[in-house]
Amino acid sequence: MSAAFVVPAPAAPSVAVIGTDARFPVRRIFCVGRNYPEHVREMGGDPLREPPIFFTKPADAVVPSGTDVPYPPRTANLHHEIELVVAIGRGGSGIAVELALGHVFGYAVGNDLTRRDLQAVARKAGAPWDMAKGFDASAPVSPIQPAAAIGHVGRGRIWLAVNGGMRQQADVGDMIWSVPEIIAELSTYCRLAPGDLIFTGTPAGVGPLVAGDTVNGGIDGVATLEHRIVAA
Ligand code: MN
Repeated sequence: MSAAFVVPAPAAPSVAVIGTDARFPVRRIFCVGRNYPEHVREMGGDPLREPPIFFTKPADAVVPSGTDVPYPPRTANLHHEIELVVAIGRGGSGIAVELALGHVFGYAVGNDLTRRDLQAVARKAGAPWDMAKGFDASAPVSPIQPAAAIGHVGRGRIWLAVNGGMRQQADVGDMIWSVPEIIAELSTYCRLAPGDLIFTGTPAGVGPLVAGDTVNGGIDGVATLEHRIVAA
């Protein structure tokens, strides 16, 4: 007997997986902020004094590569942030750094879309980042590349171009916290579960997007992402 709901049940968000028709179900989206030294500096911080932080987006913020993203309301400064995304395949809490990669199903590349103007107000006020980070369609994500196919991702060029012009380019090996360290640290705050996605932070070069822009991004050997920004 299937459960009855008093309002229409929400669709279960999911992401395509390279090499199979089966999909990755999204449970939660965790994000790391301030995880590349040059990006911390461009945001006016000191990477030695401000360690990486965690925030979240709702699971239904995911949009697949190739989707048009409407320019969101309540901002005049929408920014791109290209990031390595970790897909958790096995859950746990208090995960040891040495065992962390055993919890990874695969890797993708994502764009942590950000209302930079609202984030600046929130930072100044010591207020939550939710409306700066967790809005509708704020998490374009590429198909997931299984670790079983490509191994684990510790290095590799990460890049983002807008209308063909390179905006961000770095190496994921430059991250302050590595993937195993992120998983270990995050799992001390929350029990991780299969279906969790972790956006691992963006390198320097973040900047504005406007309606009509075409965004391309990728991580060499992992995946590529493309989406447009369209008028609301
Ligand atoms: Mn980010």
